[in-house]
Amino acid sequence: MDLWDKLREPQCDRCSLGMTTSIRCAIGSGKVPSDIMIIGEAIGKRNNIKIAFEKGSGVHLEEGMATIGLSRDDVFITNIIKCMLTEEQNENKSKSLSKPNIEKCRYFLNQEMELVKPKYVLLLGGVALRAILQKQGIMKHRGYSEKRDGVTYFATVHPSYLFQNPRYRPQFLEDLAIFKTIISGKFENEVIKNTIVTNENFQQLLEEVKDAKYIAFDLETEGLYPYLKEKNIVCAGISFEEDSSWTFVDLGLFSRFIKWCEEREKKFIGHNYKFDEEWLAVREIVQI
Ligand code: SF4
Repeated sequence: MDLWDKLREPQCDRCSLGMTTSIRCAIGSGKVPSDIMIIGEAIGKRNNIKIAFEKGSGVHLEEGMATIGLSRDDVFITNIIKCMLTEEQNENKSKSLSKPNIEKCRYFLNQEMELVKPKYVLLLGGVALRAILQKQGIMKHRGYSEKRDGVTYFATVHPSYLFQNPRYRPQFLEDLAIFKTIISGKFENEVIKNTIVTNENFQQLLEEVKDAKYIAFDLETEGLYPYLKEKNIVCAGISFEEDSSWTFVDLGLFSRFIKWCEEREKKFIGHNYKFDEEWLAVREIVQI
């Protein structure tokens, strides 16, 4: 089903952005219905206005999706704000992407969601995070997931951020790898909240795990064989409560965590214990 003609209002003037834009009310594109929806910020410059994320950061997005086995044909992609910002509006984004404008444009996103019926939504960047989950700060919340009304939301950085900061590309790909574990149903109905472990929240994790006797863990790797140097461990996930999990993308912190737990005689339950043990040993991260 093509939502363009069905939902688009080419004369929309619900908010002031419609008065100045050169592309007004660009509805998202992709598979309908679809289990997976991707929501960005505002539409960028493109040749074909009917294809969301067609150029620019769309290239990073497509590359990232390919690493977890997804293509445009598998998902529906859209934005929070449907009009293209002018250069001036782009320079003053906090005003252009204000709460009132987002709320007015939410009318279209709500309709898209009703027709696409996603089970999983990937939120790209702080604007989507704020608009949908009312949380501030994408760097603090990247890797965060939450289930609301039967839909699991997962947040990561906006791919446009990778143009200015290419060093964040590995983190973007790590987040996508975690998203893959969620959409593949590995943690379905188990994970409501996923937290990325950082130096800042490491003590909080130790505090929360201190009474747990058993800790489930699982590694995500790029391949099957740890001896292939070009393949890496993407992240390590742990869980010790029904409704939350923690993910280590910093394997130095994971090593510290394992040693801390072993000193307290906690028991680890691996999804693929032998496999994970071999990877950790060969890469000299930690012995479990
Ligand atoms: S941004 Fe959304 S609400 Fe505002 S004019 Fe464009 S389509 Fe309408």
